[in-house]
Amino acid sequence: MLETLQRQLQVCARSLHRQQMQASDGGNLSLRLERERMLIKGSRSSFGSCTARDFVVADFDGRPTSGDSPPSKESPLHGAIYRRFSAAGAIVHCHSPYATACAAVMDELVFSTYHSEIKLKAPVRVFDTGSYAVAPEDAARIMAGYDADSPFVAFLLRAHGLVAAGKDLRQAQNIAELIEETAKIHVLSRIAG
Ligand SMILES: [Zn+2]
Repeated sequence: MLETLQRQLQVCARSLHRQQMQASDGGNLSLRLERERMLIKGSRSSFGSCTARDFVVADFDGRPTSGDSPPSKESPLHGAIYRRFSAAGAIVHCHSPYATACAAVMDELVFSTYHSEIKLKAPVRVFDTGSYAVAPEDAARIMAGYDADSPFVAFLLRAHGLVAAGKDLRQAQNIAELIEETAKIHVLSRIAG
């Protein structure tokens, strides 16, 4: 069972890498497990070359409970999202270029297409944590702005990247890809005049 979930995360990571949504060893993906645990990318692996075994089990405070490498330093953010949103079953976090570029100059992502407005529904807000890491107090501040019953959650981190949480990995990845596409169309439309 665990191997199947690890493989799903690996496939997702490779897909995001192919789409140039994550280079190098940044970003991370996770799936909710039972008993306040999650399966999350290890800190030293990259989306482009990760193996299934690079996804390790950690508790919601980011402490490892199994696996060959330490969990991502951003594990506490994932755990905080799972604790707050009972419907969240998976989280995609990546440093995708267009969404991150928009987060540098916006307080809220401009919905550049009808599709993004219909699918994303609520505003995709930008938060500034002043660091590559999201401290527990920043995570609490971000999540306080959302209904705990939200079916999915998406926000941007200034000078960092995007976070998308959905009921499963498919939904979380779809949201992340839609945010990046929305941001890319906005940037291209500005270039086109
Ligand atoms: Zn990050």
